[in-house]
Amino acid sequence: MGKEGILVVISGFAGAGKGTVVRGLMEKYDDYVLSVSMTTRAPRPGEIDGVSYFFVDKKKFEDTIDAGGLLEYANYCGNYYGTPRDYVEKQLKAGKNVILEIEIQGAMQIRRIHPAALLLFITPPSAETLKARLEGRGTETAEVIKKRMDRSAAEAEEMEKYDYIIVNDTVEQAVSDAHAVIEAAHASPRCNAELIRRIREDLRRMAVPEGG
Ligand code: 5GP
Repeated sequence: MGKEGILVVISGFAGAGKGTVVRGLMEKYDDYVLSVSMTTRAPRPGEIDGVSYFFVDKKKFEDTIDAGGLLEYANYCGNYYGTPRDYVEKQLKAGKNVILEIEIQGAMQIRRIHPAALLLFITPPSAETLKARLEGRGTETAEVIKKRMDRSAAEAEEMEKYDYIIVNDTVEQAVSDAHAVIEAAHASPRCNAELIRRIREDLRRMAVPEGG
């Protein structure tokens, strides 16, 4: 029987470089696929429907929830975001590691319904670096930067809920650290539940009863 892939959740502060780390994993290794989320947020310039997100209206999103089509979903800053279920389940069965780049409410839902999932939190080495990166983008107003920094302060309270913290100082190191952690997770008991069950059962069956 083929081995199932690992469901890898990647969260982190705005400006921590989640997207860059995810792209690095996809480019460097071929055992990852990325789940494309569904959202009611409007596309930004350059975003492509079906690649960046599946862009839908509120009615379609709510119909998909009702039909059980989403693995998890959350409302973030006034818009819905959710993970289509079918793609994730198929890819995991095919042995691929599936990456979900999602925020924390969604990450906690995944933890409950998929206990073997691996939750990674990406952070820059310091708060100063985070601020400098947000300012360096040059695309956001001081007010937006302040909002994102405030949100990061709130998110920092939840970091212990993740399995591993990946420090994104240099992208190359962060990508290789994330990959190492995911590789190691394949050896964890929670990712080997079926093997453990089978060996236990066989050993019990093979045990010769005393005096027998
Ligand atoms: P953005 O609008 O900047 O693309 O995404 C906003 C936030 O929503 C990010 O933190 C992103 O990781 C998160 N997000 C994207 N897709 C999903 C999803 O399918 N589920 C959840 N829970 N969060 C998502």
